Amino acid sequence: MEIMKYMETHGHEQLCAFTDKEIGLKAFIAVHDTSLGPSLGGLRIWPYEHEEAAILDVLRLSRAMTYKSSAAGLDFGGGKAVIMASQNNKTEAMLKSFGKFVEAVAGRYITTEDVGSTPSDMEVIAEVTKHVTGLPKSAGGSGDPSKMTGYGVFQGIRACSNEVWGTSSLKGKLVAVQGFGKVANYMVNHILEDGGKVIVTDVNKDALARAKAQGIDVIEDTSKIYDIDCDIFSPCALGGVLNDETIPRIKSKIIAGCANNQLLREDHAVDIQKKGILYAPDYIINAGGVINISMEFGRTYLEKDAVQKTSAIYDTMKTIIQIVAEKGISTATAANQLAEQRIKNLPGDQGIYLA
Ligand code: NAD
Repeated sequence: MEIMKYMETHGHEQLCAFTDKEIGLKAFIAVHDTSLGPSLGGLRIWPYEHEEAAILDVLRLSRAMTYKSSAAGLDFGGGKAVIMASQNNKTEAMLKSFGKFVEAVAGRYITTEDVGSTPSDMEVIAEVTKHVTGLPKSAGGSGDPSKMTGYGVFQGIRACSNEVWGTSSLKGKLVAVQGFGKVANYMVNHILEDGGKVIVTDVNKDALARAKAQGIDVIEDTSKIYDIDCDIFSPCALGGVLNDETIPRIKSKIIAGCANNQLLREDHAVDIQKKGILYAPDYIINAGGVINISMEFGRTYLEKDAVQKTSAIYDTMKTIIQIVAEKGISTATAANQLAEQRIKNLPGDQGIYLA
């Protein structure tokens, strides 16, 4: 992999590699773009097979954070960190060592939770650096971001409903949900409260039992979720689920869920559009989590402010629909253009962010 070439092509500012032999820490921090402010993004702890996989992931994910924060109207850039380790080998010493390296990046990167790390881990990291957010509520933080993510996805679905059926109410609409985890649980509650109907699937039997206990219909065979005759298909589990095999099977009018990287390739958004389905770009409508943690950094977190800012996902989705109507492009491309335009429109030469 030609790292510099990749970084130049994709607009990355910085890649840092850190080791702490005594503790067994191997970590990378990528800072993609700080035009809007310090880069913000989660710490992923994952047993990467080799360094190249970790580098590619941290570069890819940091760039995605630039787009997510920009489109959400946040004054943060895109960053990400990865530690090459399995969650089982995660130790307090490792987190603190990582925290010192975050401190060494001098405020150009703010860390938070992601796959393999938790709000409690952020509390440990906060002992050695102030460049951290997403702490537990018990430590004065905003806690688990899933609640706000679920609320934001619901707002995105409402905006899509308004476009497709002329009403943002989901009354009587059937939503097929793939994955009944933390975010989906919150999202489903909003849909049910709004008069919508829900059917869920999950590979985890406990999740299905939880759904049944709430009186929600379930489908045990997870592969059948694409074939359900529903109004809205909501991917809330994995990435890459919208692809050549699944798109022809989906019967809904809207695809909108919380899962990251739902499209296997960006041009799958065009295939979805050709079928007359409105696709809500994932990073637009699942931004409630990052909005939530951003409102804790350097200030007192107030849930009502986070709710207000997350509600704006409704308007952002409407703006994307408008761009699609004007330019005849896919919703995925419109989302990217919206995020890029905000950075391009900044006055003067911003340069790189220095704390
Ligand atoms: P979670 O782990 O609580 O939920 C995911 C659920 O999907 C689990 O119940 C799991 O069993 C299920 N699942 C996994 N594979 C499946 C399959 N093949 N078919 C059906 N179900 C399957 O995670 P979460 O925090 O709710 O996040 C869900 C998705 O949303 C992830 O892609 C995550 O990256 C994304 N996301 C989450 C947040 C957040 O605030 N938690 C923010 C933005 C994006």
